[in-house]
Amino acid sequence: MTQIRKIYPKIDPYSLRLRLTVGVAVVSTLGLANLAFWTGWKIQQLLINNHKENIEIIAQRLPRDVQIYSEMMPSATALQKSIDNLTETNTFLWVKNTDNQILAKSNNWNQLPNATTTELMSLGEMTLKPRIDKVGERYFVLCGGAVPVKGKILGKLFVVQDVTREQKMFLVMVQSLSIGSVITIVVMSVAIAIYIKRSLQPLMQLSQMTSVISLADLGQAKLYLDKAPSEVKELAQTFNMMLARLSQSWEQERQFVSNVSHELRTPLTIVHGYLQSVLRRQTNLTDMQQEALETAASEAERTIRLLQDLLDLARADSGYLQFCLEECLLNDLIIEVAGMAEKYSDRQIIIENNINPITVKADYNRLKQVLLNLIDNAVKYSEPNTPITLKLEQQEQGAIIQVSDQGYGIPLQQQSRIFERFYRADEARTSSIGGSGLGLSIVKTLVESMEGSVTVRSRLHEGSTFTITLPKH
Ligand code: ADP
Repeated sequence: MTQIRKIYPKIDPYSLRLRLTVGVAVVSTLGLANLAFWTGWKIQQLLINNHKENIEIIAQRLPRDVQIYSEMMPSATALQKSIDNLTETNTFLWVKNTDNQILAKSNNWNQLPNATTTELMSLGEMTLKPRIDKVGERYFVLCGGAVPVKGKILGKLFVVQDVTREQKMFLVMVQSLSIGSVITIVVMSVAIAIYIKRSLQPLMQLSQMTSVISLADLGQAKLYLDKAPSEVKELAQTFNMMLARLSQSWEQERQFVSNVSHELRTPLTIVHGYLQSVLRRQTNLTDMQQEALETAASEAERTIRLLQDLLDLARADSGYLQFCLEECLLNDLIIEVAGMAEKYSDRQIIIENNINPITVKADYNRLKQVLLNLIDNAVKYSEPNTPITLKLEQQEQGAIIQVSDQGYGIPLQQQSRIFERFYRADEARTSSIGGSGLGLSIVKTLVESMEGSVTVRSRLHEGSTFTITLPKH
């Protein structure tokens, strides 16, 4: 299916490319069709019209000639003489009386086949204006009129001229013209489509280049098109200026978050310290005072942690987060982390680890922070009686650490978003569980800064597994 789509890319009816192609093709087709029509009409005029004029003249002259001759001779002879005078090759004349009987006719009928002659002779009426008609296999220009002699109508005049050769030539020309026009339109449409596609290429390039700019390289990103039209180059220039402004404001925002977090964390740490020392030293506090101080201390601690997370993220964004990379024995690390977690969470932590020592190049303390974050989540989002498993193994792609719980799980559609800043899945439940939505983004940032990766696999009501992969060095 995808293969087919690649070969026949979907046509977007709203695309500029399609609209321009259709627009230009329609205008060219109309222009060409008009030209072809006009040429056809002109050819017909050249080939046929003089014949029409010719027989119209004959039809007008014959009654006059008959009138003149009948002064000198009987009208039947005058009629025949006039017909003979006006007869030309390919021009046929005859006169019928009111009972449709032939009174006189030209003497060249032997040029025509008998069947055509009979068919022509059987015609009853003829228009005054010449017109083309097909009689048998041949084409004729036909025209008629009355023959008055001495105030009396002698009969009806029929004048025809054989234009078979001209008409056939005209039809062949029209046919060639139509075929030529259709071929030209098709070729022109294809050429137009290709030309428009190529003309829009720089815009597509610009869009592709813009789409790959990430937040991290906003500052260095520069759009440059070598062989683009000046309008597109100008657009790229405008984009570059906008990118510079965006980068600047993004940097200012980062700086602001970093400064605010830093400025708030220090006094809050002092407040927290005082609260802790009051709680530890004072023995004469009432229950209410004790509870109030404990709430204040725990809220202060939570806020300090949040500020620390924000500070870490802001520093990571600016590339100022320090990492002390060294050889770390992961087997020791997970035992230490499990011990710490067990102490503060009162939860059973199962370690699955084969005896082989696994070492990676990483920042030991940052890695500890990552695992504690994941275990903290596993504790928060599962029932107290369920265990948490820490698994360590060496695989082809590197060292793997997995943190699994048998908790509530994460809905599939939210799994790709939980690593975003301040994103919290399942609002109803998470609102009653403490947290800021920054933990997993810190995990991702730290792991990726150590060239590793983190993924999640989760099923609702069965549990979640977070997998950290750290590359071999
Ligand atoms: P929070 O401070 O809310 O825990 P995190 O960034 O650590 O923020 O996690 C983001 C969201 O991912 C959480 O709000 C929670 O809905 C979901 N989540 C993280 N870990 C787990 C887990 N082990 N089990 C179920 N849901 C989890």
